[in-house]
Amino acid sequence: MRQLNDGEVSVRTLYISVDPYLRGRMREARSYVAPFEVGQVIVSGVVGEVVESRAPDFAPGEIVTGMLGWRLYNVAKVPELRKVDPRVAPITTALGVLGVPGLSAYFGLLDIGKPKEGETVVVSGAAGAVGMTVCQLAKIKGCRAVGIAGSDEKNQYLTAQLGVDAAINYKSADMGKALKEACPNRIDVYFDNVGGEISDAVLPLLNQGARIVLCGQISLYNLDKPDVGPRPQPALLVNRAMMKGFIITDYAARFAEGVVNLAQWLVAGKLKYAETVVEGFENTPKAFIGLFSGENLGKQIVKVA
Ligand code: NDP
Repeated sequence: MRQLNDGEVSVRTLYISVDPYLRGRMREARSYVAPFEVGQVIVSGVVGEVVESRAPDFAPGEIVTGMLGWRLYNVAKVPELRKVDPRVAPITTALGVLGVPGLSAYFGLLDIGKPKEGETVVVSGAAGAVGMTVCQLAKIKGCRAVGIAGSDEKNQYLTAQLGVDAAINYKSADMGKALKEACPNRIDVYFDNVGGEISDAVLPLLNQGARIVLCGQISLYNLDKPDVGPRPQPALLVNRAMMKGFIITDYAARFAEGVVNLAQWLVAGKLKYAETVVEGFENTPKAFIGLFSGENLGKQIVKVA
């Protein structure tokens, strides 16, 4: 550890967030964030404890979160850190339901999806960190929530624990048929975390004025060549539907609003979350890779200390 300069804090890593979008930073393509450089430390969401501080607002022992290195200790500048209040919820939630995944669900669904009472909201990647929050927000808004996930156990969790109205296992179901059965009134909002063939199956069932929220396309992240599927334009055209992508940092100015609302639902018991915790700093890459075979229920986290 080097000596701290004024305005810097040293942080001991307690938990590391592994996230699907990091995969995109591991290739040299133009994107919304620069690729990682070979030999440089990987950066993602971290929750840690302040060890030493040369910043007036941060004291040793306080819990903070920020985009920090996959390291046991980081030196961070104050603007890179946000305090985590352990009295509101367990500190890991700063990486999940009260962090980037929760906020992505909140702004993606409410700002772009604009669900109205009685509408049908379909969510892919429904048992993941973003997806399970979207499903519950759809229920809070009085919608029919239909989740799509990769195992019967995950789908059982969605329906039995989270009150999701129907859940489809994309690995075993005939997607077109299963969606038709699960969505008798067709689909008004599709929150897309995965893309590919799962999303293709949604297009024939769109209602007039449907909204497609493009949050992630995880099924494509490991492909060498771009995947070509049915073209969505005819379905969007005839249904006067909209498809819009977003990157959560677009909403940075409204994060406080999102966290306050999500925390209120959490405290009121209207919003639940799940975490899959892998122990040991050395298992961080393994935890990351596991996201692509669906080893996680809810937010995948690494417990470091
Ligand atoms: P998750 O917790 O959902 O973990 C990833 C899940 O994706 C796995 O558990 C797995 O579940 C599913 N999955 C993996 N491979 C495939 C595949 N080939 N086909 C279908 N499903 C697959 O991750 P997050 O909640 O953190 O992220 C969800 C999505 O949202 C990602 O695409 C991510 O990139 C995106 N995202 C976008 C943000 C933005 O700003 N736009 C911000 C945050 C996340 P299963 O068992 O169901 O297969």
